[in-house]
Amino acid sequence: VTCMGGRKLALFGLGRSGIATALALKAGGADVLAFDDNPKSIDKAHAAGLTTSDLREADWSDFAALVLAPGVPLTHPEPHWTVGLAREAGIEIIGDIELFCRERNAVAPGAPFVAITGTNGKSTTTALVTHVLRSAGYDVQMGGNIGMAILSLEPPARDRVHVIEMSSFQIDLTPSLRPSVGVLLNITPDHLDRHGTMENYAAIKERLVAGAEVAIVGIDDGPSRAIAERLAQAGRTVLTLSRDMLPGDGYHFEGTRIFATSGTSTRRVADLKGIGSLRGAHNAQNAAAAVAVAEALGLDPEEIEAGLASFPGLHHRMEEVARLGQALFVNDSKATNADSTEKALLSFDHVFWILGGKPKDGGIEILRPYFDRIEKAYLIGAASEDFARTLDGAVPVERCGTLDVAVAAAAADAARSDVDEPVILLSPACASYDQYPNFEVRGEHFRELVRALPGVEMRS
Ligand code: ADP
Repeated sequence: VTCMGGRKLALFGLGRSGIATALALKAGGADVLAFDDNPKSIDKAHAAGLTTSDLREADWSDFAALVLAPGVPLTHPEPHWTVGLAREAGIEIIGDIELFCRERNAVAPGAPFVAITGTNGKSTTTALVTHVLRSAGYDVQMGGNIGMAILSLEPPARDRVHVIEMSSFQIDLTPSLRPSVGVLLNITPDHLDRHGTMENYAAIKERLVAGAEVAIVGIDDGPSRAIAERLAQAGRTVLTLSRDMLPGDGYHFEGTRIFATSGTSTRRVADLKGIGSLRGAHNAQNAAAAVAVAEALGLDPEEIEAGLASFPGLHHRMEEVARLGQALFVNDSKATNADSTEKALLSFDHVFWILGGKPKDGGIEILRPYFDRIEKAYLIGAASEDFARTLDGAVPVERCGTLDVAVAAAAADAARSDVDEPVILLSPACASYDQYPNFEVRGEHFRELVRALPGVEMRS
């Protein structure tokens, strides 16, 4: 990025995006003093060819800005020490997406830029929008909170679309955010540890759509609906997403079908029937968002339908891993809480359910209404006894301890059962940390265990 050329910057946080940002700034002629308080990150930065310097000893009055990694606290529970020093010195605090926005304004103003946020569904929607646009032949760069750091991507250009997933942390660090299309999927309580109150969290998310030329807003929760109303009152172009058909222009979904309303006319734009990677009402919202973005960018309905139909889905999110006869194996390792698992249970009728791990507050009590969809539960990890008590009497339970035992037992039971399309579902409703470094490793382990079953036909 050349927009900071000749200036002196402090950069804190040398994870993947921090290293990419420091390299991009230096290549553009900025003088970057980069630092991290984790020695491992410092080592990685050195291996990437960066020099680092201790920002505690720097003269902060010289810096034009502090470039901060998105995970570093601005406020809650308390601001990071670099934030304190930057505020004392009166310099701005920005993130890598802010640098992208300034670069876009400088080198390709108005270049197509889709920014996507929401409490849930960001990654799915970002990947789906990217897939639909690429299928139609567009040059698409995807990144941000998913995949590559934004400054590792190709630079903005008039004939190239950037599709960028943004967390609230990233929006917070991007004061010049003015995407061509902004998507806000939903707002539910999450990350309040950092953002303090629900009002503050919603206000940060609002900024992404308030700055957009075209705002696409899911309105099935109170805070998002209030945002859509404010934007409409201010005379902005707002397209709504909802499971109900409501007044105004937008998209709604009924079962697997997605409709678009413009003025007084409503037309069917897509049907998700048979698209395994987009099962469930939550994915209907994600798909409606992708349709809205694609139409805003000028794609034809045929191109959009073809793109939706060939979407492979994301790993670890209700991912169809394999078939074995009638049985389907689904990896939903990303479901680290009961809310996420609820979406998976709602999507299938005969579930051989593998769950457990490091428990979260509230356990699986909220899943009780779906217990009648469960043929049997296979418990793993630290939450086993707790979950066994909740399931007791309602669902047959087997305490398996490890995923190896659970997959073998569930596969054998499913093969013996006479239900239609039995689904062996890993949707743990728990963090993985008692047995795995993260949910990805847990999901990969599931895939490998399934792959080893005799006669299995892998799908991903
Ligand atoms: P994010 O990137 O926002 O964490 P993902 O697309 O990775 O979201 O989906 C994570 C989980 O959130 C999914 O496994 C599903 O349980 C749930 N989810 C996905 N889309 C939605 C949605 N539109 N509304 C509510 N929950 C959703």
